[in-house]
Amino acid sequence: MARVYNFSAGPSMLPEEVLKTAAAEMLEYGETGQSVMEMSHRSKEYEAIIKQAEADLREIMKIPDNYDVLFLQGGASTQFAMVPLNLMTGSGRADYIITGQWANKAYKEGARYGKARIAASSADKTYSYIPKTSRADFDPEADYVHICMNNTIYGTKFHNLPDTGDVPLVADISSCILSEPIDVAKFGLLYAGAQKNVAPAGVTIVIIRRDLIGKAMEITPTMLNYATHSENGSMFNTPPCYTIYIAGLTFKWIKKLGGLEEMKKINEKKAKILYDFLDSSKLFKGTVVPEDRSLMNVPFVTGSDELDAKFVAEAKSAGFVNLKGHRSVGGMRASIYNAMPTEGVVRLVEFMKKFEEENA
Ligand SMILES: *Cc1c(COP(=O)(O)O)cnc(C)c1O
Repeated sequence: MARVYNFSAGPSMLPEEVLKTAAAEMLEYGETGQSVMEMSHRSKEYEAIIKQAEADLREIMKIPDNYDVLFLQGGASTQFAMVPLNLMTGSGRADYIITGQWANKAYKEGARYGKARIAASSADKTYSYIPKTSRADFDPEADYVHICMNNTIYGTKFHNLPDTGDVPLVADISSCILSEPIDVAKFGLLYAGAQKNVAPAGVTIVIIRRDLIGKAMEITPTMLNYATHSENGSMFNTPPCYTIYIAGLTFKWIKKLGGLEEMKKINEKKAKILYDFLDSSKLFKGTVVPEDRSLMNVPFVTGSDELDAKFVAEAKSAGFVNLKGHRSVGGMRASIYNAMPTEGVVRLVEFMKKFEEENA
């Protein structure tokens, strides 16, 4: 069997070690005589799995004790509604920075529940940069400021956080969670769908400062109230058991690797290989201003739709799959999440060099 190098933006590659462990434990987990998929979520074996997953995530992300970790369903997209339903209840106003489609979707959902305001945007240049802001750009009475930390489609990332003063910062970290250390204490709430850097689709991780829980709007459905899940240890109803188990294996993999400091070093080295090539290439070029480049999603173009399509097709035949850019931007995008080995990027760059020579 030949595994391909999968550059998909999500769902995306999982560490081979995680897949192998899951395969080995597929028919029988421990001495239970059953798969994790078949277990009661109320069993002591499963309780140990979810508790350990939370403990490991807290350890690798250094999550302070005054934050809750919730394992929810509905993807990051459900958080676009849960955040306003639960937090937009003081002044009823919230500020959003629009850095791409996901940020915009979050803003539009927020606008359904209160006064959402665009505090800054990079729509003027196809979201190829992160807008600079200062504290004066934000409503000091807003209930929160929302950002999308890493913009999966456009390949930008907030390398510096906006200064929001006392207003809680809420961030969608779906495509950069666990890619490098993050100072959780700087945020009121962090959320991430699992299918980019953690596990298969199906679990959404929410990290929320506890004082922000319990203020939801009256109309909030029980299942969309953070308090419901906080009070029940993410077990109000059946959690996405198997996905949480895989997430736990990924957390262990990161721990073994040396944690997020080490992960960051690997990711920086990996991304540099690709960015250095893009900066020196006569055919390919990156689409993002250098200071705002993402470590995880690297969009690039040749300038010709025809050559782009030819490249994507030839790359696929050579074992480099899912390099087609998002339908809204075109060109190519290499998503190089944690599980993409450095060798995958080295081999991709070799292939790009060869393509450049052949198509000069
Ligand atoms: C993929 C992605 C989403 C959407 O996630 P779902 O789990 O499909 O709802 C939202 N935000 C960002 C930044 C993403 O990368």
